Amino acid sequence: MGEGVLQSSSKGWRDHCVVTSPSPWRFASSRTPTPKQVVFADNLKRDNLQSMLGGIDKVDLVVGIGSGVVTDAAKFIAKAKNAKLLQVPSTASNNACFTRFAWTFENGARIPEREIPAPVEIIIDAELVDSAPARMNRAGAAEILCSHTALFDWRCGRDAGLDVQWDEDILQLTLGELADLENYAPDIARNSRDAFIKILEVGAKFAKGFTTHPKARFNGGSEHILAWGLEAAGNRVIHGEAVTLGILLMSHIQGNDPEKAAGVVRAAKMAYKPEEMGVTWDDVERVVLNLPEAAKLVPWYTVLNEFEKRGAEGKKDLAERYKAAKAFVLNLDS
Ligand SMILES: [Zn+2]
Repeated sequence: MGEGVLQSSSKGWRDHCVVTSPSPWRFASSRTPTPKQVVFADNLKRDNLQSMLGGIDKVDLVVGIGSGVVTDAAKFIAKAKNAKLLQVPSTASNNACFTRFAWTFENGARIPEREIPAPVEIIIDAELVDSAPARMNRAGAAEILCSHTALFDWRCGRDAGLDVQWDEDILQLTLGELADLENYAPDIARNSRDAFIKILEVGAKFAKGFTTHPKARFNGGSEHILAWGLEAAGNRVIHGEAVTLGILLMSHIQGNDPEKAAGVVRAAKMAYKPEEMGVTWDDVERVVLNLPEAAKLVPWYTVLNEFEKRGAEGKKDLAERYKAAKAFVLNLDS
């Protein structure tokens, strides 16, 4: 981790395939050994990934150099090729390099590819991260702030008597990171390189919990289910920005101190307006009203399952709460 680290850490790469996209590769190609193959990944459709696999020879190591799509494509390819995986995230905009599944899509449906090999190394090059658009890096703060709503959902699961691997140490670690985020939010707003690296460091800390406590939803709950709906509604929605809007709406719907979440969003200058991410408020409403249905497809429990259990009355309650939450978000502008 640090500056120049990509160059120094990549010296031993041999017989490797690089999965990347044009701008991170412009940075990385002159700093790393020549790969056996380079493939550019720009979407996660399963048929596209499958045909990509056909063009890749047997390799020992798959190196992902890029952001969300590239990271997940590299995971998918490493698993399919039975190769080692190494990740070089090019932005702080998402925590994909720390999770053990890859998102793929088929006919618009989101399909997790599970049991991805654990990366042998995650290289965080400060200069590479700093060369990404600042807006993407700021959006990464949502991958920490999402614990605000996720902890609420995790409690819902515990209170419903489910096995959610409730764990006081993970709870305290997460609360500590949420509190700390308030401290460096102004640094994120002024696009501080150190603050962006810090976001990735927190991702790495949370990653341990993902492995030891896979059922504990301390980082990623109902706000992510909402965000995935927004990502499907738009064309090129930045994950962290969709999550940010998800946090604002869901914390209000949960009755879970939305002002606190909004304070961090404002302080860090994270984007959250639908029009900024290329979706409309009509899209948002459609996504939110469908959440109880969407939640049934997700293997973990959130407040959304409680709306679903209550049937028509729950739907009506959600619609009313959404109205109030939307008004709250619109008010943040003024
Ligand atoms: Zn996320």
